[in-house]
Amino acid sequence: MTATLLDGKAVAARLRADLAARVAALGFRPGLAVVLVGDNPASVVYVRSKDRAAREAGFEAQTIRLPADTPQAVLLATIAGLNADPAVDGILIQLPLPAHIQADAVLRAVDPAKDVDGFHPVNVGLLSEGRAVLAPCTPRGVMKLLAAADVSLNGARALVLGRSGIVGKPVAAMLLAANATVTIAHSRTRDLAAECRRAEVLVAAVGQPQMVQGDWIAEGAAVIDVGINRLPDGRLVGDCDTEACARHASVITPVPGGVGPMTIACLLENTLRAALSRRP
Ligand code: NAP
Repeated sequence: MTATLLDGKAVAARLRADLAARVAALGFRPGLAVVLVGDNPASVVYVRSKDRAAREAGFEAQTIRLPADTPQAVLLATIAGLNADPAVDGILIQLPLPAHIQADAVLRAVDPAKDVDGFHPVNVGLLSEGRAVLAPCTPRGVMKLLAAADVSLNGARALVLGRSGIVGKPVAAMLLAANATVTIAHSRTRDLAAECRRAEVLVAAVGQPQMVQGDWIAEGAAVIDVGINRLPDGRLVGDCDTEACARHASVITPVPGGVGPMTIACLLENTLRAALSRRP
């Protein structure tokens, strides 16, 4: 079998165009505030892309840049100001935060109704109950890609590789809510290859370049590669050996151009959701 490549750029472009049309019809511009502490180069690039995508879709975007040595209390006061600002519908705190700041405390300070990353414990709880309004963006992107490829999840054996709060756990909750039979694997899992071979749907989110080998993939499986890893030669690769896995999978996402573009599109969707659910 040779897999079809799932074009995340195209799916994300359609979602962004749809969101832009819905925003244009609103009569107001939903507001997104992105807070960046420090100047981590990858974060600077991500924040710029989020800001640009939000503006292009008609949102009111602002980026608040704070120096790397900003005291936690100042960051918390900034968040309190955004929570209280009626023009701000969505707040995103760009991670990672500098080491002297407790990320947990900061993420808990965001008003759950404006938490467009879906990381606040209230939103994590609602997701586990299957009632989330604001759920994490990358996992939402994974689910939209599976839908775009017409992958049937009802009763399917799904394996999520990775158990982070950002990707692995929420994507597992979403697959479960879609009636898949979900296994979560991680660094302590025995015989990962055997676990993978049982999967009809495999979502890899480990951050280990090209770890998933071609012979780990069941014939006809759908493979979503969330990983973004930079090799010493500068190339970006995923957590799967794409070429080898594509010989067995029915569909597979490329890296770059798979899940990555979906994350920003889903952030905009969350901002619109937050704007609509905050207003009568
Ligand atoms: P993370 O917080 O580092 O979590 C990695 C998970 O993978 C952990 O649960 C870890 O297990 C597991 N793991 C690590 N090495 C393993 C191994 N050798 N075998 C089995 N399991 C292993 O990472 P993350 O934030 O979830 O991100 C994962 C990847 O997705 C990264 O490459 C990241 O860049 C990418 N990512 C992409 C997007 C996007 O927009 N496309 C968004 C977010 C993340 P333990 O829990 O046992 O340590």
